[in-house]
This record gives sequence, structure tokens and C-alpha cells, in this order.
Amino acid sequence: MSTAFISDIHLNPQRPDSFARFERFTAQAVRRLRHLYILGDLFDYWVGDDGVDAIGQGRAEAALRAVTDAGVTVFFMRGNRDFLIGDEFAARTNCRLLPDPSTVTVDERAFLLSHGDALCTDDTEHQAARREMLSAKWRFAFMQKPLPERIDTAAELRRRSESRKQRTSRAMMDVNQSAVESFMREHRADTLIHGHTHRPAVHQFNLDGKPAWRYVLGDWHQRRSALYYQRGILALKK
Ligand code: MN
Repeated sequence: MSTAFISDIHLNPQRPDSFARFERFTAQAVRRLRHLYILGDLFDYWVGDDGVDAIGQGRAEAALRAVTDAGVTVFFMRGNRDFLIGDEFAARTNCRLLPDPSTVTVDERAFLLSHGDALCTDDTEHQAARREMLSAKWRFAFMQKPLPERIDTAAELRRRSESRKQRTSRAMMDVNQSAVESFMREHRADTLIHGHTHRPAVHQFNLDGKPAWRYVLGDWHQRRSALYYQRGILALKK
């Protein structure tokens, strides 16, 4: 039995392949996993827990529920796309919500977990939008709107994010190494696991004279990407 970390599946009814991949993964997870950590952007967008059917994600919730019903502990950290996930979602799926960041210990090894977008400090435009949307004021105003309007706003935000990707350099949209180092120092971590950048890789570097690792999870647009931890060994299958 092992532990798996995944992120950035970006479930969207318009991308049925990713959903099929996720459903196959959850069917296998119930037999093989003890813990599953979802580090954000499981959903391509989320408009509030009351909008799950309106955005066609009822089947995804059912797939998650089947995993927790089978006895797998599923932890869910919100990403920048599904930051509106709330307690009702957690109750329906039986997932445990994790704040970003969180340090978890699996078999006596500590991992610092984050979605990852907070570390992309060179992308000042994203950081400003992030601050605004994570504010109670923004959330309150958004949740006051009727569902169809929320869905339109979410679509508009995705359009903006796509057009921004076209005009922002790849380097600017990656994590900033010194932000990573101060983040790891602050949390006394030697192993960081995150997603968001869609650049699956294992980075080893020196942090204050000691080895440190940053595991980056990939997206699921073309294939499954997951990091497995079993018997003291971390293996990234991208
Ligand atoms: Mn993201």
C-alpha cells in the first residue's frame, strides 16, 4: 500500500479524456493506496459547492467518494482554479481539506506540500489576482451571484488566464528559486512537493549545506502524472 500525490487534472466536461484517466486512477487507487493527496486544480474551475451539478462535476465527486468509501484517506488542497472548494464538497466526498501550505508526515518522513502558484513570485500579475480572489470580500461578492453568472465569471477568468499565458514568458511562470528556498527554510523542510507549473521534474539542490528536493507534479492533459511514496522511496511517474 502506498501514498500518491497528484495535482492539475483540470477536470472539465469539455475534456473527457482527463476524466477517463482520473476514473481509471481512482478505480486502481482503492486497491493500491493508503493515502491520496490532491494538491490543487483537480477541477479546471469551481463556482462554489452548490454548483457541482451546474458545472457537470457530479461524477467526479462520486469517483472521489468511492475512493474514501473504500478506506483510502484523501486529502484535498485547493489550487488557484478550484480555490472555492468548501466544506460541503468535503462532506459529500469525505475528503479532508488541507490548507496551503501544509507539512505532512508519512512513515516518519516529512513533506512540505503546496499547490505551487504562491511560489511563482516573478508573475506579479498572477500574485495580485491571487491576493484579490483569496480575499473574503471577493469570495463573498462572487458567492452572492446566481450560478449562471458565476459560471460566466469563471469562464471569463479562464479566458484571461489563457491569453496571459500567451504573452508571459515561460521563465516568469515558473517558481522562483529563492522564493522556494526561503519557503522551505521557513517550514524547515528538505522535501517540497507541488504542482501548478505543469513541469513534472525532480529538482535536487543545496539548501544551507544540506541536500533538498523539489518534486513537481505534472498535469493530466496527455497522460497520468503522479508521485508515489512507498517504503521510503519517492517515485515520480510522469
Ligand atoms: Mn494551478
